[in-house]
Amino acid sequence: MYKNFTIGIVGGGQLGRMLALEAYKKGFRTVILDPDSNSPAMQISHFKIVSEFDNKSAMEKLFDLSDVITYEFENIESELLLYYKYKKEIHPNPELLKISQNRNKEKELAKKYGIKIPELYPVKILKNQESEIESLYHQLKNTNKEWIIKKAEGGYDGKFQIEFSAQLSIEDFKNRTKEFFKNMNSMQTEIIIEEKLLYDFEFSIIACGFLNKEKKIETVFFKPFLNYHHKGILRKSFSLIYSDLNTKEVEDKIEKIIKDYSYIGILTLEFFYKNNVIYFNEMAPRVHNSGHLTIEGYNYSQFEQHIRAISKLPVLKPKLNTNSAMLNLISLNYLDSNPDFLYEILQIENLYFHYYGKTEARPNRKMGHITILNNQKEELFRIANDLERLIYG
Ligand code: ADP
Ligand code: MG
Repeated sequence: MYKNFTIGIVGGGQLGRMLALEAYKKGFRTVILDPDSNSPAMQISHFKIVSEFDNKSAMEKLFDLSDVITYEFENIESELLLYYKYKKEIHPNPELLKISQNRNKEKELAKKYGIKIPELYPVKILKNQESEIESLYHQLKNTNKEWIIKKAEGGYDGKFQIEFSAQLSIEDFKNRTKEFFKNMNSMQTEIIIEEKLLYDFEFSIIACGFLNKEKKIETVFFKPFLNYHHKGILRKSFSLIYSDLNTKEVEDKIEKIIKDYSYIGILTLEFFYKNNVIYFNEMAPRVHNSGHLTIEGYNYSQFEQHIRAISKLPVLKPKLNTNSAMLNLISLNYLDSNPDFLYEILQIENLYFHYYGKTEARPNRKMGHITILNNQKEELFRIANDLERLIYG
């Protein structure tokens, strides 16, 4: 039945590579669409379509070659995906992709489903005009609060975000807003202005929607991932067997979203936790960096679950085998210039090393990650934090 079964993946990054590796274990083939012929996923795929994401004939070829289409990259035209939906199934549902591409829309969705969001300042358009930008600066200053201004579309890894506090000078504010208009023809851009939450911690929830035996949508959840960011980029994640964090209520709401959108595959949502309240931050209709530790820490990884779901294979409840940690290897770090240090690191027991095959170590690039398993929670945190200090100084 699955002879020559081919999965088309839009995007050739490390997420695509890990999905392709999982597909291979099942004897499936992959076809990757990406502009970079040496991208991590393309290095190992059966078929390659080297093209920009907005190229119609490339997309059509991807649909022709594949039995099912998925994506690992969010900034693709959901309309273009939907254009070919008569040819093959696309999972996850591009309708939810479209919502997740806009920070205002995804926050509206969360609110609609009863998930709390941070307070929003009611300005959603930023005009590229000095008077408008100055006016916004003064308005925010008058609130006596701290805010985070984000471009509504296109940001990732903390890009296109401005932290606003009374200490920020008007000159700096003006300069920072200029970044929002880079490579844009338009004189205005959509933004979201969120209160800056002094949260206790950040976490993510990774869910998987799939079709059960009765062809009804069901959902399974991984345990929450406790996340630590550095300058807007994920640095470390932990998943613990015992935790006080109660996510039942929010999971019921996510399950409802998955049902309503007939969502098949992995869905990730990021949250802030403050004074016993859970606030929604953003969502990604795909496998996620915070879920990398599922490869070794769980009976079924997020990649395996996603491949199973989109290939209409059974998806079972994931189980965390042992307390686990993930440390991202983001360039430039100590390892880039001291490759021998890897030998030292790999002597640690129950530590697993992943590198994505990126040839160039540019600043802030995710080059790989390390997973650490240790049932002793304190020991797990100690090893992960010590390694972080050694790698990042
Ligand atoms: P990205 O798409 O770049 O991941 P996020 O909205 O998740 O964008 O922001 C990146 C990080 O910046 C968050 O993980 C968090 O650490 C910090 N951050 C974002 N929004 C807020 C907020 N409203 N309050 C406090 N910290 C925030
Ligand atoms: Mg984020």
